[in-house]
Amino acid sequence: MPISNAILAGCEKSFTAADNSRMKASTQFFGCMALMGLICRHDQVLWLVNMSSVGEKQHYIIALLETLFQHLPHNFSVGVLYDIVCQLHRSCLKFSFLDHYLNRMSFGISVFHVFGHQWPCQVAYHPRKVVGFGLTDGKGCECFCTKLMEVTSIIVFYTL
Ligand SMILES: [Zn+2]
Repeated sequence: MPISNAILAGCEKSFTAADNSRMKASTQFFGCMALMGLICRHDQVLWLVNMSSVGEKQHYIIALLETLFQHLPHNFSVGVLYDIVCQLHRSCLKFSFLDHYLNRMSFGISVFHVFGHQWPCQVAYHPRKVVGFGLTDGKGCECFCTKLMEVTSIIVFYTL
């Protein structure tokens, strides 16, 4: 892990998306709290999942990424831009999530959220500082969210 647990704890506190207890909609009236989407480098939606529980739990992201890898050739690498990717990366390493694919993944924070992270996290995960992201900034996720309201999304692009 490129950054310490103390830094990660600071990031976790500063993002409501990392707060698993925060409700975005009433579970009493709605079966679906929100949507989470997997968007490609060209801002096209690949998959959506209904978020049926409170908070932005990581199993939604992991399910989307697992689905993506099942549809990709075995030699494809994937860059993941996500608002709280530091938390996702830590969980993948700690609990062996997506273990079969980790050597083909690189992690970055979408630029619109990166400055909300602790400074060491910004250095480790800013897409301009991670090899392979180029000028990709994750703006497609923000546009997607704006269009659909109450959608949480991650962006993924493929590289050979
Ligand atoms: Zn962070």
